[in-house]
Amino acid sequence: MTVEELRRYLEFYRDLGIKEVRKVDPPRIPLTPIAPPPPEPVAMKPIAMDLPPALPVAPQTPVPIAMSTEMSLPSLAPDGDSMEAIRNDIGDCRRCRLCEQRNKIVFGSGHEAAPLVFVGEGPGADEDEQGLPFVGRAGQLLTQMIEGTAKKEGIPLLRPQVYICNVVKCRPPENRTPQPDEMEICGQFLFRQLMVIRPKAICCLGSTATKALLGTKDGVMKLRGKWQKWRDIPVMVTYHPSYLLRPYNQNAKRESWEDLKKVLHFVYD
Ligand code: URA
Repeated sequence: MTVEELRRYLEFYRDLGIKEVRKVDPPRIPLTPIAPPPPEPVAMKPIAMDLPPALPVAPQTPVPIAMSTEMSLPSLAPDGDSMEAIRNDIGDCRRCRLCEQRNKIVFGSGHEAAPLVFVGEGPGADEDEQGLPFVGRAGQLLTQMIEGTAKKEGIPLLRPQVYICNVVKCRPPENRTPQPDEMEICGQFLFRQLMVIRPKAICCLGSTATKALLGTKDGVMKLRGKWQKWRDIPVMVTYHPSYLLRPYNQNAKRESWEDLKKVLHFVYD
């Protein structure tokens, strides 16, 4: 439309009495083509299906376990295993890096048919020197805890009557925590020791022993005081004696005595 045509157009509407016109934007044209509308749905004819009637569902019953738990678990030890055979198999072990700085292999000590086994983490400096577990400061506290608690509870028990060993048999440098591969390699000997002794209960001292036996990431604080299981053997988790030696962990000391009382009564009552 030219300007002259527009002027005449507006004059026509003014003469009709229309005083106002509005500018209206033309509709936008979409850049993408609009999809055609979907086809009308075709009415489906019902199909007659000759299905057999549904089978009646049996009420759910628990699956009977035919074998005892012990039989269904793979063996962790050779037939006729013994402490002597395990010690011989360890030999002058070079299976992991812990051999490089160790002095002595710390196999374990105590009664080899004890109904109670304590499992620690790994030897420290004193243990590495003497070849015996828990003989340093933490060991003295452990002895006190075992014998003192037993005495208070009226159980005549001395340390040599239980068995004590560690997850790793060689001292980690600077007393660092054993690494997963070291625990796995040495763990096979710990498992064999436990299978040979077959104690009535195991007491895990600290998180390394707990991880090795229970394979859990849960910490000692969460697990302690309640019975767990390694294979079919009851396990009590408690704090490591080294942790209890720190002056700010006195509350844990009281909890440890409680855990130990539970274990001792379970095993010796
Ligand atoms: N700490 C352990 O875990 N084991 C020992 O034998 C000594 C200290």
